[in-house]
Amino acid sequence: MKWFTLPLALILASCASSIAQTEQAPTNFDSIPPDITEFMPQPAILVFSKTREWRHNKGIAGADRFFAETAGYTGMGLFTTENAAVFNSEQLARFNVVVFNNMTGDTLSPEQERAFQDWLEQGGALIALHGSGDNSHGDWHWYDKQVIGPEFIGHPAGPQFQKARVVNLATDHPVMVGIPAEFSKVDEWYSFNTAELGDAVPLLGLDEDSYSPANLRYGPVQDLRMGGGPQGHPIAWVRCPGEGRVFYSAMGHNYTSYNDANNIRLLRNAFEWVRTRDAERKGCPQF
Ligand SMILES: [Zn+2]
Repeated sequence: MKWFTLPLALILASCASSIAQTEQAPTNFDSIPPDITEFMPQPAILVFSKTREWRHNKGIAGADRFFAETAGYTGMGLFTTENAAVFNSEQLARFNVVVFNNMTGDTLSPEQERAFQDWLEQGGALIALHGSGDNSHGDWHWYDKQVIGPEFIGHPAGPQFQKARVVNLATDHPVMVGIPAEFSKVDEWYSFNTAELGDAVPLLGLDEDSYSPANLRYGPVQDLRMGGGPQGHPIAWVRCPGEGRVFYSAMGHNYTSYNDANNIRLLRNAFEWVRTRDAERKGCPQF
């Protein structure tokens, strides 16, 4: 449709919306890429923990330590930053795995988002943790809908942290090697608006009878049950957008998550799987 065939009201509405977007768009995106030494070992891990919404200082510290240890035992390079200007094609090419360590809010400019999407779909690997899958990423539609998927609707409060029964939903998946059929863990348990994950493989689900999935503290009482048993409440899953691989886990609010043997095993397996490039694409949903 050419512009002059549009009804006047629609033209005015679209103008108004573009003006509004211009006015609302953050203007202070990072624009100067970090200086990454030429001596950084290859391949390398990029850990990104910029926050413009809720900041998980404890969870960020725990994951930082985990990936420092990972770089240690794999011999890989490691670069940890909160500078979103690192998301350019030249610097991304130096990394095999990107970690969104509780990244929240509108942290990447549209150009940086595009550079990351191209890198991921052309064979990149992403591990996204806890707050990186909350409801503060709506500005980045592709990431929000196609990388994460379901919409975060809340977590329990009163109490916020609870021990729950976590169920292994994919015992044959490479990420689940050594993970028991079920285990107990304390965390801040996320609920989502749906268990329909599209082209993802659900790995872990919650037994909602094993904890109190309700917000009793903030605003009106909120029933956070998703229903349908552990399959109905996924909390970790994988996807393969393009040639890339993604692992998301809603666990990890606290530093202590990174002392939990099952979570350590899960993340180590996930790290190996996202950066594997086997012809069979074992573990990808469409293969
Ligand atoms: Zn949290």
